[in-house]
Amino acid sequence: MECIFCAIVEGKIPAAKVYENEQVFAFMDIAPANPGHLLIIPKQHYRNIFDMPAEVGTKIMEAAVPLATAIRKALNPDGLNLFQSNEAAGFQTVFHFHLHLIPRWEGDPLRLPWKPSEGDIKEISNIATKIQEAL
Ligand code: AMP
Ligand code: ZN
Repeated sequence: MECIFCAIVEGKIPAAKVYENEQVFAFMDIAPANPGHLLIIPKQHYRNIFDMPAEVGTKIMEAAVPLATAIRKALNPDGLNLFQSNEAAGFQTVFHFHLHLIPRWEGDPLRLPWKPSEGDIKEISNIATKIQEAL
């Protein structure tokens, strides 16, 4: 089965396009978490962040910054979240990399998906070392 986001880029299925350039495509999410919920994707297919070149990530962020400003100008939200899911364990449901831009309003129904609580500083620093060594 063809990737649904590739089909959107190719114009085979409709989408409310907001912006495109040579590398990226931005369109409205069909099931918005809040009004103005937008997705930015690379035109080329990458499953998620684990197989996407860093340069493509740069292109995504180069589009995200002005699009966030445009959302703020158009919709006057109180805030905005960037959200991005990788693999089923990380909430991913469409397996073509996408960055969510979700405008936020005070009192809107969205909630942080984790409960912040103080961590063990030794464990945190051991994990930091582990990641650093893997880089
Ligand atoms: P994720 O759970 O991070 O993989 O997000 C996938 C997102 O794609 C969801 O927010 C869906 O509402 C959105 N989505 C799925 N199909 C379409 C479509 N045809 N057009 C626009 N957005 C879509
Ligand atoms: Zn795709």
